Amino acid sequence: MAQLAANSPISYSALDAHHAPSEELIDKCVHCGFCLPTCPTYSLWKEEMDSPRGRIYLMKLAAEGQIPLDHTFVHHIDNCLGCMACMTACPSGVQYDKLIETTRSQIQRNYDRGIGAGLLRRMMFAFLPQPDRLRLLLGAMRVYQHSGLQSLVRRSGVLRLLPQPVRAVEALMPAAANDFRLPDRVQARGERRRRVGLLLGCVQQVFFAEVNAATTRVLAAEGCEIVIPRDQGCCGALMLHSGEEEQALAYARRTIDAFERSPVDLVIINAAGCGSSMKEYGYLLRGDPNYAERAKAFSAKCRDISELLAELEPRAPRQALPMKVAYHDACHLQHAQTVRAQPRKVLGQIPQLRILEPGESALCCGSAGIYNLVKPGPAGELGDRKVRSLLATEPDVVASGNPGCLLQLQSGLRRTGSTVPVVHTIQLVDASIRGLPVESLLRNGRPAGGQSPAAVTSIT
Ligand code: SF4
Ligand code: SF4
Repeated sequence: MAQLAANSPISYSALDAHHAPSEELIDKCVHCGFCLPTCPTYSLWKEEMDSPRGRIYLMKLAAEGQIPLDHTFVHHIDNCLGCMACMTACPSGVQYDKLIETTRSQIQRNYDRGIGAGLLRRMMFAFLPQPDRLRLLLGAMRVYQHSGLQSLVRRSGVLRLLPQPVRAVEALMPAAANDFRLPDRVQARGERRRRVGLLLGCVQQVFFAEVNAATTRVLAAEGCEIVIPRDQGCCGALMLHSGEEEQALAYARRTIDAFERSPVDLVIINAAGCGSSMKEYGYLLRGDPNYAERAKAFSAKCRDISELLAELEPRAPRQALPMKVAYHDACHLQHAQTVRAQPRKVLGQIPQLRILEPGESALCCGSAGIYNLVKPGPAGELGDRKVRSLLATEPDVVASGNPGCLLQLQSGLRRTGSTVPVVHTIQLVDASIRGLPVESLLRNGRPAGGQSPAAVTSIT
């Protein structure tokens, strides 16, 4: 592949030279097909071009100029959920994450999606990485849900007349929670063991504020002082996974700046998609002389909350939670970060809590960033399949470590008429430390007292 100046078009390739998928990475694929059974899109359609092997071959053909960057190419790349199950399965160590990210940014730069699809993406990115705008949406959701309009709309069948993306948003809408802001700093209980920064996450801080509150309480109870930079913004994960490279890098730089202002030992993340991107900052900003070293140091400090808790000897006593929990591995934890044992270890420290292991645990639930908004059909099929596996274990509650999965699973369970609640893993740890009754978790997965700033600091 020719090495030309950044962004200059290569005459014989469909791709430009700015971070084109590298020949070295592409050629690591030996076409063995071990990844095929774990690929959700291949398992849905049995179509070679919708498998990891097929997509890598398409990338090769596009890079060599043998095929154009046209609708067919984009269609198969867009179908990929970016779940990274293929990386876990691959015996040759193919770095599919780097391949798909660079290919997606090539598409965003060099392919015209047309007015409709382009507008939909612009609208999503105008809202999703902006907590202040999401808060406006939360206000509208409250009115929609509490006025009775939602049940009227759902009963009337009018939703069927609306465009598919609107129906997808409506179906994913969680019960509007109370919104509150956490303090800038929370002291450790007892002797301090770590000083950590906490990423709030865009969707998490607005739609799952109680998850951040629970995270803060658990960290404090385990002897961590928590710093929550007020000026932190989006970490850029959604943009990175969608090929919006420039925006993603701008958000990455801003996140590094915000956390550098208050030195911490570790940066703690409770959203799997955010964590996987932040651990990649070092790689993503490798070409930026002002950030390359800082990004590497920053990424080395990033930990999922379950990684830190699994590493610390528990200090806060755990009370019994006699319940059965079906644990759902979020793809960006299990595949992208290879964090599988830690959440189980953390849950295993709760007396009388039984962890259930659903079948097909490597398979994506269909959430995958904006995938369930732009591809609601396959996302819904995967969601239904996942829900069937989870319910087959007969759980009292479902737990996972990613807000996108929580929304997708809540929506899938609602479709079946199931009332099994979905919670973040940390909410179970929090409930156990606080000695909350099991019933409080079974109320829509929103434990009592979890939704006020007072509840955050009362234990510190
Ligand atoms: S990332 Fe997931 S959907 Fe995409 S090719 Fe790999 S296994 Fe298939
Ligand atoms: S398992 Fe790895 S080497 Fe084999 S086809 Fe899949 S990506 Fe290629």
